[in-house]
Amino acid sequence: MITQSMERIRVAGVEVSPNHYIGGKRVSSESTFQVISPIDESVLGEVAAGSQHEVDLAVQAAKNAFPAWAALGPKGRGNYLKKLANIIEANIEKLAIVETTNNGSLFESSRLRVMKRGAHNIRFFAEWAEQLKGEIWESNGVRYSVHYEPSGVSGLITPWNAPFMLTTWKVGPALAAGNTVVIKPPEWAPFTCSLLADFAEEAGIPPGVLNVVQGIGEQAGAALTNHSDVNRISFTGSEETGRIIGKAAADRIVPVSLELGGKSPLIIFADCDFESALRTAIGQYDNAGQVCLAGTRILVEESIAEKFLERLKTEASKIVLGDPRKPETQVGPLITREHLERVQGFVEGTKATGAELAYGGFVSEKLGGLYFEPTLFVNIPNDAEILKKEVFGPVLTFQTFKTEEEAIEMANNTEYGLAATIFTGDEQRAERVGHAVNAGTVWVNTFFARDLSAPFGGSKKSGIGREGGNWSFEFFCDVKTLSKRNGSFQ
Ligand code: NAD
Repeated sequence: MITQSMERIRVAGVEVSPNHYIGGKRVSSESTFQVISPIDESVLGEVAAGSQHEVDLAVQAAKNAFPAWAALGPKGRGNYLKKLANIIEANIEKLAIVETTNNGSLFESSRLRVMKRGAHNIRFFAEWAEQLKGEIWESNGVRYSVHYEPSGVSGLITPWNAPFMLTTWKVGPALAAGNTVVIKPPEWAPFTCSLLADFAEEAGIPPGVLNVVQGIGEQAGAALTNHSDVNRISFTGSEETGRIIGKAAADRIVPVSLELGGKSPLIIFADCDFESALRTAIGQYDNAGQVCLAGTRILVEESIAEKFLERLKTEASKIVLGDPRKPETQVGPLITREHLERVQGFVEGTKATGAELAYGGFVSEKLGGLYFEPTLFVNIPNDAEILKKEVFGPVLTFQTFKTEEEAIEMANNTEYGLAATIFTGDEQRAERVGHAVNAGTVWVNTFFARDLSAPFGGSKKSGIGREGGNWSFEFFCDVKTLSKRNGSFQ
């Protein structure tokens, strides 16, 4: 049974609805699940656990709202979406503290960057849609034109490590394209998505255009991906879940976008800007290593390896591990106890292979809880699991290479292909290596640079498809060719 509910709970002093948002109304479910803060493992609240019934209602609401939303056209939709972006910008602090409390990411970085990117995701795609024009050409007496048409209801499923940013990254283009959406937020960090629904309402976005069904992946998520009225599935999360969702999409022959995990290399040549490469290597502990794009395999040219390792040890010893709400903190907690145990399991397994710990490898003695010390392994056997599997924690590996060919071979020795980062002072080498590594995104002498007009996505097991710029619209739209014979009209 579901009922309308005005209930609000306070998360870090901010009022948030723990319920779904369906057809413009807050509705509860009989069953709930508990949300815990990774900062101190305190209970933040009980959140409605949606299942098939709630998903059916939300998809129906999205389906009902679709024709009118699609008919508004890019400009009409853009007006609403730009209002939404403005409201997000006016609520950056609120969003940042709720996200930090909910998933343990750094408050300063959320406040200064991540939440602003959330607003940018919405505004950018609204503006892009207004400019989007398909090609027109003539051939053999026929005039061809390409059109980006709304495709219906999109199901959006997101992970906990950057829930607000990744939700808006999907909501922006899906709504700008003229689709309506049902979002299934991550059960570990559902609150900023609930705030997004409040902001959508405040922006006047018509009921049913944006719906949120809270719940557990295997219940609400599975019901959404298997729903016969969902025309697009955009998923960001783990490889395991990606495989399940890919199968659900295949059964119904529905386009699916999978943004999955990574085991990205950070390749450091001796001719690089040493300090910049060092800062980037240390930066891989950001968000306690819970970043899909993290360059967790540090590969260093042998001639500078010893010096680089010494400096890495010194810099790592200065990292401030602690409460993510404090401005001085650089690395916060892991998301859950279960995840902490998984990370510990990787560390113990790696120690058993004979690999050496350069530093870290344990839960912080001072902080306890879910705070895991930044960790680095050296002298790792080539077949060790740590070089292959995504840990999603503050655990890096350090390996050396002698030649460019060897660096490329090591970089590509992974089943993933999300990103790769290269540090070198030689532009020709940057081109050669940049083309030779298998990854959807390759950075040279920079890290995390993201322009939303560029394609983003993974090669190999890091996913299927690209989003960003036109690629987002190619995914969310039904791209149509209209072919008219010249001279055939009165
Ligand atoms: P996850 O796969 O466990 O969960 C992601 C989402 O899928 C959650 O909302 C969950 O409820 C839902 N889900 C789980 N089972 C489902 C099912 N059977 N059907 C439908 N939905 C289901 O991933 P996570 O632990 O939340 O996130 C971490 C993973 O996400 C890492 O592998 C990371 O690399 C990846 N990630 C990738 C990117 C990218 O852009 N490529 C970005 C961030 C995170």
